[in-house]
This record gives sequence, C-alpha cells and structure tokens, in this order.
Amino acid sequence: MRILIVEDDINLNRQLAEALKEAGYVVDTAFDGEEGHFLGDTEPYDAIILDIGLPEMDGITVLEKWRGAGRAVPVLLLTARDRWSDKVAGIDAGADDYVAKPFHVEEVLARIRALIRRAAGHASSEIVCGPVRLDTKSSKATVDGKTLKLTSHEYRLLAYLMHHKGEVVSRTELVEHMYDQDFDRDSNTIEVFVGRLRKKMGVDLIETVRGLGYRIQAPTNAN
Ligand code: CA
Repeated sequence: MRILIVEDDINLNRQLAEALKEAGYVVDTAFDGEEGHFLGDTEPYDAIILDIGLPEMDGITVLEKWRGAGRAVPVLLLTARDRWSDKVAGIDAGADDYVAKPFHVEEVLARIRALIRRAAGHASSEIVCGPVRLDTKSSKATVDGKTLKLTSHEYRLLAYLMHHKGEVVSRTELVEHMYDQDFDRDSNTIEVFVGRLRKKMGVDLIETVRGLGYRIQAPTNAN
C-alpha cells in the first residue's frame, strides 16, 4: 500500500513517514500544496494524508482539484484543533476523514488503515482468504494460524492482493503500489516475490492469470 503525505512541517512529515514505513507502507512525501497536488494527480496512492495549511496551494484547494478531476483516493485531512470550519470545508471538499493537531501518530495509522480497508470494501481489520488471514493492525499474516515470516516487500505484495482478493491485479499495478516514486522499478521482480510468497505460504492461492497478472482467491469447495 502506497501513501502520500502532504505536510509542510518537516518534522511532522518525517515522523508520519517513519511510522507509516514501519507499519509496512510505501511512502512519498511532499512539502507544499503544488508538489502534493501534482503527485496525487499523477501517482496511484492507496491513501493521502493532507495538511490544510500549506504553502503554494492550501489543502482544501488541492483536495477540490483532485476531486474535480475525478480522483477518488481516500484522503485524511490534518486540521488545526480549534478550526471547526476547516473540518466542515474539508469534508465538503471531499475529505474522507480528518485528525486534529496535535494528534498521536497511532490515531493517524488507525484511520489510514480504516480508510484503505473501506476503500477496498472490507469492514474488518482482518482480511481472510481461505486459510490466509491478514491482520492489517499488526501487519502480520498467518496461514492456518501459523505466522508467515515475510520481508517488507513480500508483506506489501500479499497485503495488496488480499485487499483486492478475487480481483486480477496487474504487475504494473503491483509495482505502483509497492514502491515509492524514487525506486528503480522493475516489474520482473514481482514474479520473484510472488514465487517466494507462494513458497512461504505453502498453499497455492495466488493464481497467475496469463497476460493479465495475479489473483488471490479462496479455494472453491468441490462439494
Ligand atoms: Ca501546515
């Protein structure tokens, strides 16, 4: 899952980025409204954290532009605590949720998890596919109750497929959601990660859909 943070407070931006990376996300950062707007307009994020008070272009304008252009990405606004009118304006502009400053990073993480889950149509923090369970809260996965020891890339791959279970996901899409904008992307590596993941899982739930990509699906009962 790939997140964009648009926040001009350098320390806060870095703090959020570190916490999100630790939780298994790929993170891009922007420090003003114009840069943030550009990235959100051109890169496929799974969620965006957007500050309202930004240089160059304020957060509400950035959000209005994205929504006006049809970008449906979940957006979590960062608002000043005493500015209730900002919250109203933000929600009217198309924000999905907000957190008032100062906040605990844990709260932002929980809200981001919920936004991504809901955008993919999952109500619970645990996503289940046959014997595989993905706990989005602890960033852990199990097969038949046994914890999988996954690298961060393998976890991201599995998490993306699980959020989109039953759907065919192309290699390009996986690359776009597993790496940040600066990464030297090579879609061939996806095949390698899928291979490793299948081996670690020990169950064949990740199907290769020839020429299209991959799909994780619970086995259908024969009876
Ligand atoms: Ca600010």
